[in-house]
Amino acid sequence: MGTENPGRPTSRPVAPFPVAQTMSPFSSGPVVGSDPSGFRPAPPLNPQSTMPFSSSRPVVGMEASGFRPTGPLVPDTSGFRPPPLTRFNDPSVPPPPTSNAPPPVGPFSRFPTPQLPSTTQPFPQRAPLVGQTPFQPPPGQGLSSPVPLRPQQQIPSVPMGSPPQSVNYTSSNLNVSQLPLDPSFPGSRPNLQPFLPGYARKQSSSDPQVPPVQSPFLANQGGIAPGPPTTSSPFVGHQGGYVPPPPVAAPLGLQSMQHPGSGPPTGSIQGLVEDFNSLSIGSIPGSIETGVDLKVLPRPLDGDVEPKSFAQMYPLNCNSRYLRLTTSAIPSSQSLASRWHLPLGAVVCPLAEAPDGEEVPVINFASTGIIRCRRCRTYVNPYVTFTDAGRKWRCNICSLLNDVPGEYFAHLDATGRRVDLEQRPELTQGSVEFVAPTEYMVRPPMPPLFFFLIDVSISAARSGMIEVVAKTIRSCLDELPGFPRTQIGFATFDSTIHFYNMKSSLTQPQMMVVSDLDDVFVPLPDDLLVNLSESRSVVETFLDSLPSMFQDNVNVESAFGPALKASLMLMSQLGGKLLIFQNTLPSLGVGRLKLRGDDLRVYGTDKEHALRIPEDPFYKQMAAEFTKFQIGVNVYAFSDKYTDIASLGTLAKYSGGQVNYYPSFQSATHGEKLRHELARDLTRETAWEAVMRVRCGKGVRFTSYHGNFMLRSTDLLALPAVDCDKAFAMQLSLEETLLTTQTVYFQVALLYTASCGERRIRVHTAAAPVVQDLGEMYRQADTGAIVTLLSRLAIEKTLSHKLEDARNALQLRIIKALKEYRNLYSVQHRLGGRMIFPESLKFLPLYGLALFKSTPLRGGYSDAALDERCAAGYTMMTLPVKKLLKLLYPSLIRLDEYLLKASALDDHKSIGKRLPLSAESLDARGLYLFDDGFRFIIWFGRVLAPDIAMNLLGPECAAELSKVSLSERDNEMSRKLMKILKKLRESDPSYYHLCHLVRQGEQPREGVLLLTNLVEDHMGGTNGYVEWILQIHRQIDLKTALLILQLSAGYRSLFVVIAGAYEE
Ligand SMILES: [Zn+2]
Repeated sequence: MGTENPGRPTSRPVAPFPVAQTMSPFSSGPVVGSDPSGFRPAPPLNPQSTMPFSSSRPVVGMEASGFRPTGPLVPDTSGFRPPPLTRFNDPSVPPPPTSNAPPPVGPFSRFPTPQLPSTTQPFPQRAPLVGQTPFQPPPGQGLSSPVPLRPQQQIPSVPMGSPPQSVNYTSSNLNVSQLPLDPSFPGSRPNLQPFLPGYARKQSSSDPQVPPVQSPFLANQGGIAPGPPTTSSPFVGHQGGYVPPPPVAAPLGLQSMQHPGSGPPTGSIQGLVEDFNSLSIGSIPGSIETGVDLKVLPRPLDGDVEPKSFAQMYPLNCNSRYLRLTTSAIPSSQSLASRWHLPLGAVVCPLAEAPDGEEVPVINFASTGIIRCRRCRTYVNPYVTFTDAGRKWRCNICSLLNDVPGEYFAHLDATGRRVDLEQRPELTQGSVEFVAPTEYMVRPPMPPLFFFLIDVSISAARSGMIEVVAKTIRSCLDELPGFPRTQIGFATFDSTIHFYNMKSSLTQPQMMVVSDLDDVFVPLPDDLLVNLSESRSVVETFLDSLPSMFQDNVNVESAFGPALKASLMLMSQLGGKLLIFQNTLPSLGVGRLKLRGDDLRVYGTDKEHALRIPEDPFYKQMAAEFTKFQIGVNVYAFSDKYTDIASLGTLAKYSGGQVNYYPSFQSATHGEKLRHELARDLTRETAWEAVMRVRCGKGVRFTSYHGNFMLRSTDLLALPAVDCDKAFAMQLSLEETLLTTQTVYFQVALLYTASCGERRIRVHTAAAPVVQDLGEMYRQADTGAIVTLLSRLAIEKTLSHKLEDARNALQLRIIKALKEYRNLYSVQHRLGGRMIFPESLKFLPLYGLALFKSTPLRGGYSDAALDERCAAGYTMMTLPVKKLLKLLYPSLIRLDEYLLKASALDDHKSIGKRLPLSAESLDARGLYLFDDGFRFIIWFGRVLAPDIAMNLLGPECAAELSKVSLSERDNEMSRKLMKILKKLRESDPSYYHLCHLVRQGEQPREGVLLLTNLVEDHMGGTNGYVEWILQIHRQIDLKTALLILQLSAGYRSLFVVIAGAYEE
């Protein structure tokens, strides 16, 4: 997003978008053949309870009995072990072109590297496979010394780089192989002794010292205990102690919403008047068009507004930066849920960056083992309750009464709280991170690994991309995570593939060229991926010489597909991050793409969506392979021509990566943006070989997931490399007609390898009340989460439908929801011709309109270049809530007054307020800053005081602004402006804001850069805000059956007709 391409009819900078596989576009990745049950520990302790919450949905491509975890072969400590190639059963993904023959020569010599047993064998014991010493480190390597992580010769299985800790591989073949499975997943963990330390011996350890506790609270709990496990009363959960215990008699009788401190009224009519907003519409007879006062329409000028009452109600919940529900009032029945009309679900950003002082505490249970429910595998959290004098704890998700391991035992005080509460962050905080004990690991956690695949064809060389990439990587070498274990490697390609021997003993890298594209192989596999600290000087020499090596290259071809396969071969041993720099449409070998063209004629037909999904299944297959081997792919695309982002982006979509698109890249213009974004990609904290699962309480379950990932089983998201900039959305549904609990709990568990080499489990827990009142659902709605989920659903829909259909579906949902809400109250309040909506949803219509106009959804053929549309879609599918809202409704601020004011350099408070996104906000005498989180646009009014322009731009201020770049000049005004930009960039570092300058009236740039993004304006065939509100209102209010109108370019005339009908 955010590159300017002069001469290109682009519009909004873009964000990439997910691509689609053939069948169900984005919603969830293909299921990669592993069966959750396959991960099940051998002798399950509670066979019946291993997968209590896993959905019963059929899992595609799985084999029930298949794929038993075996030995250390699998490079996955995550619990999600990449199934052997041959077992890749996803029907949508054809099996890789591999034979099951035993490894010919070395592990690397042929494409699917890992040589695995034949498809039909569920992986026998490891033993036969291992003629080698699987995890033997090179002799002499100390435990923490930098290890080359080089696979041993002829080890077909996964050689582990790191030193062999003290794991007994032999004996652990059967059992331990289960261990790495996400302990957070039901059944994923062997129910072996070490896992439930203290569980078995609990009884014996019930120390005699435990005093009989006679707290009233406890007694109360005791009363609940034997009963049905419906007890999720919020009180019981508040063990943590932040909330004063309720009066003893109260808990069970309380309405869920009446939790102490809970604000919102429960469904009483009284509260309504304050709770909803209303707009007078059409009150001026005969002038429908102006019936709404534009000024009073709600606008999110303060940015994202999160519902506060939820956090107040449940202070022990994790922060909303990690988890947001679309409504924090969970409907008690399916019928209620269906009347809500908006998506019911959550947006999860498991690694969101926390401000200083709010970091997630890391907890090491050491020998105690991680405390989890023995039935549903929920992690101990602030909502579990302790009973039986501290000897038992009740799971808040499934209500099972668990024993407290001896080492974890603590007495309860008079109020029933553990006396050690203060020392137990996991019982007092909604977000914690557990260190996974080493005995859980099949192999030492993988080292951070970066492999760069760089296009060096003529267009890449001429754009300057290679130089920027090489210099940026070099400048980041000290900051790559994981020192001293970090691994690195490079390959380049045009019509052939070039590998680089980086062996530490060399003084400079050796290049090897592979020209056989049909049968790609990797030469010298041992020296192509090297330990960065050991080979540092060779790596530096390589990066220094890379730009000049290809500066005169005239090769126009791209053997991208074969190069991709080679990368997989190289990386499959360890996993890691693959960064692709792609400039030319792949033209040779497997995976070549053709100019599908952006055919004007298919728009508006049933074939339109096909342009937005990959044509060749190769890319999706490759993505599945990458994910299987714990490789996350980030795609950087730079072409000035059509480059089929729809296909290329698939690689990122299904491997949990991202797409960065810089159309018509020129280093002079876009270099800074690429530099920053690549640097962030390389240096931000990354969670490696991760899997994520979200558990929820009885009666509800997540049914679909939306974002960039691969779905491993029905509810297990595979994320080979995930970071703080990625969010995942999911839809929730009720499994039972009626929920009997008063509270529903959610728990996000992300199992991953930290760059430091520690295996961790990050756990976020939250509770939400169950309500019987539809109005309450609306009042507790979270517009940010709703818009995030709606946008993903809409973008996915464009992969199987026309753009217009996707927009209509979105509009219909908004209308239905507001209509339902209106019906709730219109009678009592004689609302007549007024449009009403809950306070919580007051920005929903505007965000909906903005979504209509966003790059992935807007207009038709001519409104966004196809590649940009796809790229924007890929990006929007990953954005966290706040980032997405900023993109949809960017900030517009007037700056000239601030710059003229004699205020301190740091006085940012006096910067003007955000303005409505409309041309009416722009004064020809002013200077404005538009910021959508991906770029800045500085707009110079036609009659802006000349000295301001002079101060900011110098003598160039009279030139065409597309050729002028902003830099700091020696005057106060310039310094102030640059300081503002710097501050804004720092506050939102996930993407670099490229700064564009535009003068009022400078067309077409002004239109492309700014005017099309003023979402409140009527533009081309799209509605302005007022028209949009009127249209929604008409449709909500129409008493006829004519409910839904087509929103299209032809809408205006239709509107008049409808308006007439309404005025009857
Ligand atoms: Zn449980």
